[in-house]
Amino acid sequence: MSLTHEAVVACRSCGVPVTVVVADSLNAERHPELKARLLDGTLHRFQCAQCGADLVIDKQLLYFDHARGHFFFCFPRPRIAELAACLAEVREVHDKAFGAEAPPEIQALGKHMMLRVCFGLDQLRDKVIADDARLSDLVLEELKCEVLGSRDDLRALSVIALWLVRVTPDALEFVTEGPDGVRTPPVTVTRALYDELAARGHAAILAARPALVRGPHVSMLGLVLEP
Ligand SMILES: [Zn+2]
Repeated sequence: MSLTHEAVVACRSCGVPVTVVVADSLNAERHPELKARLLDGTLHRFQCAQCGADLVIDKQLLYFDHARGHFFFCFPRPRIAELAACLAEVREVHDKAFGAEAPPEIQALGKHMMLRVCFGLDQLRDKVIADDARLSDLVLEELKCEVLGSRDDLRALSVIALWLVRVTPDALEFVTEGPDGVRTPPVTVTRALYDELAARGHAAILAARPALVRGPHVSMLGLVLEP
């Protein structure tokens, strides 16, 4: 099941209290409407009735989908600064759910789950869209590095991350994240470029950029964490 609860937050613009309903866990099979809201960017996004300001709640969320094998643990975006602690927390949750104490069939299920740690809903959405489209997230992160490294226009806009929002037969579409979370115009990359990188193979990609993978955190953000 999915777990949601009501919370009261202060509008960041006018300060009035706003009542919101947020999810602590999201079961994509049972609640496809919540998955749809994650994908269209409206999950945990509210509007203040008083002043009309957009309110985005950046909170912890466990996303799972047994049929697709997804066990994606999402932390608030700023917690990436404590990556090691977050990875330890997730390891504990995962072990509790699928470890030696769980019934054998649940342990077997755990072995087939794709475990990922995300920071912020942009990254969670990116993981869901990529795997639903049968893309490798490692190849995708390498693709982002190559695109950000080769496009002067993105560097001029100080884009620090690309987040997948749509996959078509010919193209991959991304929104951007600039400083302070600002979006600049979306970025479209040809599917051919993805296929070219995928042909290199995971081992070669990892050998060239080992920081793309930190346990279950598979992300180009791992590169900017290097001292
Ligand atoms: Zn307001």
